[in-house]
Amino acid sequence: MMHLPTIIILSIILNTLIGSFLLSLYRLKKQKTYLYWCCSCFIFVLAQVTASLRAYSDLNLISHYLADLLIIIAPLAAILGIHAYNNTEKSKFTACIGVLLVSVIILMPFYSTSFAQLYTTLVIACSFCYAAYALNKLHVGRVSHFLLLQICFVIHALLMFCQAALLVSAPTSVIDTQQALAVILISHIVISTCTALVWPVLMFLESEQVLTDLANLDPLTGLLNRRAFLNLSATHLEQANSYQKELCALMIDIDFFKKVNDQFGHETGDEALKWVATKIQAQLREHDIVARIGGEEFAILLPNTSEKNAQALSERIRLAIKNQPFIYKQHSISLSLSIGVIKRTGDSNINDLLAKADKGLYQAKHNGRNQVVVAI
Ligand code: GH3
Ligand code: MG
Ligand code: MG
Repeated sequence: MMHLPTIIILSIILNTLIGSFLLSLYRLKKQKTYLYWCCSCFIFVLAQVTASLRAYSDLNLISHYLADLLIIIAPLAAILGIHAYNNTEKSKFTACIGVLLVSVIILMPFYSTSFAQLYTTLVIACSFCYAAYALNKLHVGRVSHFLLLQICFVIHALLMFCQAALLVSAPTSVIDTQQALAVILISHIVISTCTALVWPVLMFLESEQVLTDLANLDPLTGLLNRRAFLNLSATHLEQANSYQKELCALMIDIDFFKKVNDQFGHETGDEALKWVATKIQAQLREHDIVARIGGEEFAILLPNTSEKNAQALSERIRLAIKNQPFIYKQHSISLSLSIGVIKRTGDSNINDLLAKADKGLYQAKHNGRNQVVVAI
C-alpha cells in the first residue's frame, strides 16, 4: 500500500511545478487556456494543503469547508481551460460560478459531515464527465491526441462515482470502506496530477500540428501546397530514379475558370475549387500525392504508375468533373479540366518533370481544352 502523506507531498510538488510551467507558457504564448490550467493546478495544491490540515487542526472551516470548495473549483478551472482553447470560456463562466455559489451555500451548514464529502465527490464526478464531453466538442486538428486526456477524465469520473457509492454504503458495508476510500483518494491525486501534465503536452503537440499544417497545406482545399508537394515529390522521384521505377506526374488546370468568378462571384469560385479538389482526390490511391500548386492549378505525382495507367486515371478525373455539374446556391455550373501527363525518364528532377507535364497541359489548352495530353 502506498504511503498517503508521501503521495500528497509528491503531488503538491509536481502540481506546483506543472502550474509554474503552465504560467510560463501563458506568459510566453498569451493563450488563456494555459492560465486556467495553471490556476487549476495551484488550486488543487491549495486543496491538498488545506485538506491535509484535517490531521493536525480543528479548524474545520479551513480544513473541510474551504478544502471541499477548492476541490470543486480545480476541475471547474480546467473546464474553463478547455473552453478557452476555442475562446468559448466566457459562455461557461456563469455556469461555473453558479456551481461554485450553489456549493458555497449547500456546504455551509454541513461541512465536516459525510454529506459534504458525498456532495463534493458527486460535483467533481459530474465535472469530469462534462470535461470529457467538452473535449469531444473541441475543434482540434488531431482528435486522437485528446483521447488520452478524455480517458483520464472518464476514469476520474468513475473513481469519484465509486467513492460516492462507498460513502453511501459505508454504514452497512461489509468491505473495509476506509481502506477503499484511501485507495480512491490516492488514485484521485495521481490522476489529477497526470491530467495536469498531459494537457500542456497535448497543447504543444496540437500547436506543432497547426504550424506544420500552416506550412504545408493549402488553407482553401486542405490539399498540400506547392512547397510541400515539391519536397515530397522530390523524395519519391529520387527513389524512382534509384530503383528505375515507373512514376508519372500530372498537371491539371480548370478551363475558363475566370468566367466562373466573373459570372458567379469569388465565393462561388472558391467553393468550386474545393469541389474540384474533392473530386480529384476521390480518384486517387492512398500513396498518390496531390497538391493545389497555383490558383486553379493542381499537380499530382503517381509513384509506381505506368504512362498508360496515368493516362487512364487522368481520363477518369477529367470525366468526373465533366459529367457532373457543380451545384452551388441554386447555380448549376459546368466545369472541365485540361490535363498534361508525363512519365519519368532518365534521372529527371521534379522541376523538369513538372515543366514537361506543363507542356502537355499547354497543348491540351491549345487543342481546345477539356482533354488529356501525354507529353514527350
Ligand atoms: P484557361 O482555360 O486558359 O485556364 O482559362 P482560365 O480563365 O481558367 O485561366 P486564367 O489563368 O486566365 O484565370 C485563372 C483564374 O482563376 C483567375 C482567377 O480569377 C481565378 N483564381 C485563381 N485563384 C483563385 C482562388 O483562390 N479563388 C477563386 N475564386 N478564383 C481563383
Ligand atoms: Mg484555367
Ligand atoms: Mg491557370
